[in-house]
Amino acid sequence: MVAPNLCWWQAREAKDMADYRRILLAVDLTEECRRVATRANALATSSAAELHIVHVIEPLSLAYGGDIPMDLSTVQDQIHEQARSHLADFAASFGVPEEQRHLVFGRPESEIHRIAEDESMDLIVVGSHGRHGLALLLGSTANGVLHGASCDVLAVRVGRDVPDDDS
Ligand code: AMP
Repeated sequence: MVAPNLCWWQAREAKDMADYRRILLAVDLTEECRRVATRANALATSSAAELHIVHVIEPLSLAYGGDIPMDLSTVQDQIHEQARSHLADFAASFGVPEEQRHLVFGRPESEIHRIAEDESMDLIVVGSHGRHGLALLLGSTANGVLHGASCDVLAVRVGRDVPDDDS
């Protein structure tokens, strides 16, 4: 039920926010993503939505192409194992159950879009570095996710110039 002192468009906005049913939080597993997760979690709680978390591991072959003439599979396995354990701890700290955690390989932007579509998400939440100037308004991944997403995207400002929520 919407508060009676809201005008029609505020009531409509409040209803639209409450319409989010499935929220996908994209995390790079850096320190900064805790702030983004706190926002996504608060939004999921207030709209009674299901919160999912995705982390994308970029294959070393994508980062370095064919430039390194050696077998990278052992290193890749170690990166995967570390990411799995880090994602499990991170998701557990926000009460996100195992079936709502997605650990995938590929390019972050396209994998985030793919999971959002496959899992019928209606909102993607990413972090964005608030630098100065229009061109630097969004970080590269946040920018890539925004363009081509088939649902809403919320970019939460992160970075050293953003005060902590509890400060
Ligand atoms: P960037 O533009 O790379 O600074 O990243 C901005 C945001 O994109 C992060 O705060 C995350 O929300 C998301 N992101 C970046 N890399 C990844 C990744 N590997 N997996 C999932 N999300 C990511």
